[in-house]
Amino acid sequence: MISKSVGFIGLGRMGRHMAMNVNKSFDTYVWNRTRDHAIEHSKTYETKLALDVKEIAFNTDVIILCLPTYKEVFEIIDEMAECLKRNHVIIDCTSSDPFKQIELYGHLQKYGVRLLDAPVSGGPSKANLGTLSSMVGGDYDTYHSNIDILKSFSKPIYVGKCGNGCAVKCINNLLNMTNLCVASEGLKALSDFGIEPGIALDVINTSSGRSLMTTERIPIHVLERGCDYGFSMKLMEKDINTASQLINLPMFAPTIQRLIKNCMHNQGQDIDYTSVYREIFKK
Ligand code: NDP
Repeated sequence: MISKSVGFIGLGRMGRHMAMNVNKSFDTYVWNRTRDHAIEHSKTYETKLALDVKEIAFNTDVIILCLPTYKEVFEIIDEMAECLKRNHVIIDCTSSDPFKQIELYGHLQKYGVRLLDAPVSGGPSKANLGTLSSMVGGDYDTYHSNIDILKSFSKPIYVGKCGNGCAVKCINNLLNMTNLCVASEGLKALSDFGIEPGIALDVINTSSGRSLMTTERIPIHVLERGCDYGFSMKLMEKDINTASQLINLPMFAPTIQRLIKNCMHNQGQDIDYTSVYREIFKK
């Protein structure tokens, strides 16, 4: 069997690690908007440096994208459209909008190009280890014939039609952020009552109120590392906005949306999403 050639577009906090892992099993061409990052990637991991996104399309069978939103994805696909071939596969790992994924799937289908939406979860550290979860939507045949590529950077789960991956992803992040906010508010109340957050967490983490936020995010990324997880608040805001459009009469998302706005207003646009803990603690 001839091995597939893969292109990777978007070497940000997540993409740089994912492309490194894909390259362990497949010839991988890389491209990034800030070219120095692609040059560095190519030197460090011996990935193939593409001049532009057209070269990526020209030289590869499968193209992986890991970009901020569907807008950048649409722009990049537009730019390489003339070089896409029939049966080209695009794996979009962007946490995107499920309705936009359905639109893109229909558009690409006209040209015989196959799309999987495969947003990931796990953050930069799991991206580095190759142990991300990916939630994959699209035609089952396309999923099945590209499972080796998906497995090179993640543990994939097939979730049905294209768009479903992004639908699950935004709800997952609504749960992530809601858990973090409620845990932060609870710890603040206990702190005001005279109980140190560390002691409160020791109790909660052996009790029924524990979550990933109380066992890892708050003790490690907030308290030890000073709100440095590696996922920007702006990208979390996008996911919460997407989730709130999916929910009929959302009850919790509007509160989280207000809190995020205040956070970015008070602490800056480029803060890590875990900075919500600080916002709640300074009240
Ligand atoms: P980053 O901001 O670190 O990286 C974004 C990447 O997109 C960079 O390579 C950037 O290039 C590129 N980019 C931005 N704008 C454009 C543009 N107009 N044209 C071309 N390229 C562009 O984001 P992350 O890696 O954190 O996130 C990527 C995706 O993964 C997002 O959809 C996010 O929601 C999702 N995600 C993130 C997680 C995390 O913990 N960070 C976890 C799970 C999912 P440049 O280097 O030039 O800026």
